[in-house]
Amino acid sequence: MRVLVTGGAGYIGSLTTLQLLQAGHEVLVLDNFSNAKPAVLGRVAQLAGREPAFEQGDVRDGALLRRLLAGQGVEAVMHFAGLKAVSESVHKPLEYFDNNVQGSLSLLSAMRDTGVRTLVFSSSATVYGLAETMPLREDAPTGTTNPYGRSKLMVEQMLQDLAAADPAWSLCALRYFNPVGAHPSGLLGEDPQGIPNNLMPFIAQVAVGRRAALQIFGRDYPTVDGTGVRDYIHVQDLATGHLAALGHVHGRPGWHVFNLGTGRSHSVLEVLRAYEAACGRALAHEFVPRRGGDVAQSWADPARAESALNWRAELSLAQMCEDSWRWQSQNPNGYD
Ligand code: NAD
Ligand code: UDP
Repeated sequence: MRVLVTGGAGYIGSLTTLQLLQAGHEVLVLDNFSNAKPAVLGRVAQLAGREPAFEQGDVRDGALLRRLLAGQGVEAVMHFAGLKAVSESVHKPLEYFDNNVQGSLSLLSAMRDTGVRTLVFSSSATVYGLAETMPLREDAPTGTTNPYGRSKLMVEQMLQDLAAADPAWSLCALRYFNPVGAHPSGLLGEDPQGIPNNLMPFIAQVAVGRRAALQIFGRDYPTVDGTGVRDYIHVQDLATGHLAALGHVHGRPGWHVFNLGTGRSHSVLEVLRAYEAACGRALAHEFVPRRGGDVAQSWADPARAESALNWRAELSLAQMCEDSWRWQSQNPNGYD
């Protein structure tokens, strides 16, 4: 297939682009480099043995999208482009609604105008809000606690309304749990700008000497050891899940929603210990109060994706940490 990948220079988009190329698909990447480096695409080409087509631009540019979709025989879109930092979204809500909601609206309008009717959208487990019953199934109630989460839920609602209005569309939201890890070559990985918001990239920067110590947010949660519990999924498994979802939904009209998680849960301290094993040394850490807005625990019921997509996450926490560490130690300053 010929697939447009928005945000294809980013962390998850680049690894998925690589898998699409390796599976024989033609890929056109659109990225505005607001949170990515051009060097990523060279590394994707190095690993794939061929280059993805690339256009630097913004998903909010409707004229550009129409030109790309109509002119290049695109059959499906994977939509990764967007902003993703929860705390930033609280301070800059309009930027988040503009990029994530308006960006998706612009993309859907261009798809409508050019006859492209298959979309796989990057949603998030954050749409389950403060849910307390684990594991989370796709039919659990949704709710949000911040503008980032609301932007994801709004897009999901747009997709549902569109699928209900016009049976020609195949629209799929993938609710990611906690993507971590890197390509096993060490050539592609997560390169956060500034202070990492997420746990594993922060630990990785402590391990490589860029940060002094991990701050563990809260030790009084009702969990196995008092620290927050999440469902960490290797980004390689996540990318495989995208290919499975694309194969399933293309030509199968309607609204589709799948959790992409492992169904396993790990505490912050378990992740820290696994990372210490991967990098071969103890890592400095301290306990600090809970971070506002965090839930105690969150993990997926991945049964729907397993049965419908014939996909399951295979890689362990140890492999996530080993691959993250290989990437971080080979690229201490990311793609710079
Ligand atoms: P990322 O920031 O690495 O990738 C996003 C890419 O989109 C970047 O390359 C950025 O330059 C590009 N981009 C942003 N706005 C754009 C715009 N308006 N036009 C064109 N390009 C634009 O993030 P990621 O971790 O790879 O996440 C990809 C998607 O998955 C995002 O939509 C994110 O919200 C979602 N998601 C991520 C996580 C996670 O923990 N990483 C979890 C759940 C959902
Ligand atoms: N966390 C932490 N220190 C950090 C970053 C995260 O203790 O520097 C904890 C956080 O409180 C949560 C878990 O690690 O319990 C995963 O956080 P992350 O931000 O990676 O994912 P999310 O909270 O969005 O699921």
